[in-house]
Parts: sequence; structure tokens; C-alpha cells
Amino acid sequence: MIEILVISIIFFFIVIYIISKSKGNVNTTNNIYSQEYYRGLNYLLNNEDDKALKIFTDLIDVDSSTIETHLALGGVYRRRGEFDKAILIHQNLLSRPKLDKNIKNQTLYELSKDFFSAGLYDKSEKILLNLKQHESYFESCNEYLLLIYELSKDWDNAIKFTKNLKQSNIRKSSIDVIVSHYYCEKANDYKNDNQLNKSITVLRKAIDINNKSKRAYMTLFEFNIHSNPGLALDNLEILLNIDSIYLIILSNEIVSLSTIHQDNNLDKRIYDIILNFSNNNNFSPKLYEFMFNISGYDAPHDYLNLTKTNIFTNIFNNLYLSKNSSDKTYLLNNDLLALIKNNFLTYNCSNCGYTAKNYIWQCPSCNHWETIKPITISERITYSA
Ligand SMILES: [Zn+2]
Repeated sequence: MIEILVISIIFFFIVIYIISKSKGNVNTTNNIYSQEYYRGLNYLLNNEDDKALKIFTDLIDVDSSTIETHLALGGVYRRRGEFDKAILIHQNLLSRPKLDKNIKNQTLYELSKDFFSAGLYDKSEKILLNLKQHESYFESCNEYLLLIYELSKDWDNAIKFTKNLKQSNIRKSSIDVIVSHYYCEKANDYKNDNQLNKSITVLRKAIDINNKSKRAYMTLFEFNIHSNPGLALDNLEILLNIDSIYLIILSNEIVSLSTIHQDNNLDKRIYDIILNFSNNNNFSPKLYEFMFNISGYDAPHDYLNLTKTNIFTNIFNNLYLSKNSSDKTYLLNNDLLALIKNNFLTYNCSNCGYTAKNYIWQCPSCNHWETIKPITISERITYSA
């Protein structure tokens, strides 16, 4: 009995010794790991990327917990635009034998983003098409795949891909709105290739899928300005019925239609359209000048009445009426008029704040569609007041 007790006590101490020894080893390893880890971080912070990369690469073989560090490091390189380093890190990870399945998928996803950011769309697409078979990656892979088709202007694939998606919205826009934009992009390609008939056929498809396709009607207006001004104005009216803000956005094109054709009937129709769709804040210096000329070179009272709540309407009118006077202030007035006209309209993305000089349908910064909004000088002043 005593022998059993002695053996048990010895056994107990052996177990305690083994446990404490193994803990000691872990601590030693952890210490080495954390020292190296911090040394690597230090290099990274001092922009000594190569040294940092060397340390982090060595650490991979020490402890599998550094995999997270590598994924984070790859992400940092990608955000810094150093895609080759990000690709190298992620490919290094993937070359490890016995890589956990979840980690492997996560690394593949990161690698596809590296290729995407580097503009290597075909390599990115190949990974994403495989990876989307896993449910947890399905949506994010689809989002990247669609961006690839958009950025590489592969509109046929974009249309096919979007129609097969089960979701109803992409980047806050409905699928129908997005697909109609793809058709409009195709129409532009055909037009640039002088294939006008094909271009118009494709624009009709855009309208079939989205009967309020502002872009399709705007394009039809622009296509017909020279060749068929009546049809151009028909499309303009449809567009303005959908959203009257295009009266301001297209003011240059509307006035140029009048200048090209020099036709009183067309001018009368433009005059009616402007009065029909002008309201409160929709004042435009360009349209004012057209209305001034058509009103016998005098203040266009009907137009001024409709837009009088805009703080620039009266200011512009007063400056314009005195611009040819012999008064000494006329030079200053002309400068002010030019200043207002040239800075009247800018464009901002309502989703990310990107600023554009011209009207565009897709924000190049956040890739959302139809989020670029016109901001007039009066709105800018009102916002900053
Ligand atoms: Zn944006």
C-alpha cells in the first residue's frame, strides 16, 4: 500500500515537472516570437519593408499564429499600393503545406484582391469564380467580379452576370437601373465605332429594361442634336419629365441645338420647354442668356419669375442688364458675370463626396451609379452659410 502511495507521489511530481517544463518552452518560444514580431513591426513603421518582410516570412515557420499577422501585413501592402509585395506574402502563405481550409480561402480572397488592385483582372477573376462556390464568399466575390467586368468594360459579361444574380440591388441601385447603364455603355461603344443603328437598338434595350432610363433618353437627345433636332427635343422632354434637373445639366447642349439650327420654331419650342420645366431653384446663366435673346434682348420676366427663389437670379439679371452700359462698373460687372457662369455648376458624389467637373454616370471613386449630383453655386453658398 505504501509502495503504491510512493509511486503515486513520484508520478505526481513527474507530471508537474513535465507540465512546468513544457510551459517554460512555450514562454521561451513566445518571447522569441514576440521579440521578432516587434522588430518586424518596427521595420514596417520605419518603411524598411524588405527587412520587415524577411522577419515576418521567417516567423511563419515558427508559429502558425503569425498567419493572421501575414494576412494583415499583406493588406497593409495592398493599401499602400505595393501590390507585388502583397501578392508575394499571400502566395507564400498558400505554399504552406497543411494550411487550414478556412485560412486558405481567406488567403485566396486576399490574393484575388491583390490582383484586382494591381489591374490583373483575369487572375483575380479566376480565383473569385472558384471561391464564390463557398457560401460565405459568394456575395463579396460577386461584387468584385462585377467590378472587374465594369472596369474592364466587358459590358456583355456584366449584363449576363448581373441578370443571373439573385439580389435586387447592387451598390444601392436596382438591378434594372444597373443593366440599363451597361446597355448605354454598349451604345456608346457602338457610336464611337460609327455603328449608329446598333447603338440606337441597344439604347432601346436600355429603355425596355428600365423605362425611366435617364441616361438612354439623354443619349438619344445628344445623338439627334445635329441630325434630327425635333426628335432630340422629344427625348429631352421625356428626360425632363423623369427629372427636371437635367435642364440645368444639359443647358449648354440645349442652347447649342438652337445655335446650330437657327430656326424660330425650334427656338419657340426650347423656350416653352425651359418655362415648362424651370422651377424655384433651377436657374441657369446659360438658359437665362437664351431667354434674354429670345425676349427681344430684354429681361426674360417669365423665366425670372419662375426661378426667383434662387439667390442668383436677380443678381445675374442686374449684372447682365448693365453689362453694356457706359457705367465705369461695367468691367467689374463683366468679370462677375464670367465668374458666376464659369463656376455655376460642379458635381459631387452623394455617396463618397468625390468632386467632378463634368457630369458622369458612375463615380470613379466609389463605383456607385447615378450618385454624381449637380451642385450649383447658389447651393454651395447656402450650404456654407
Ligand atoms: Zn462616389
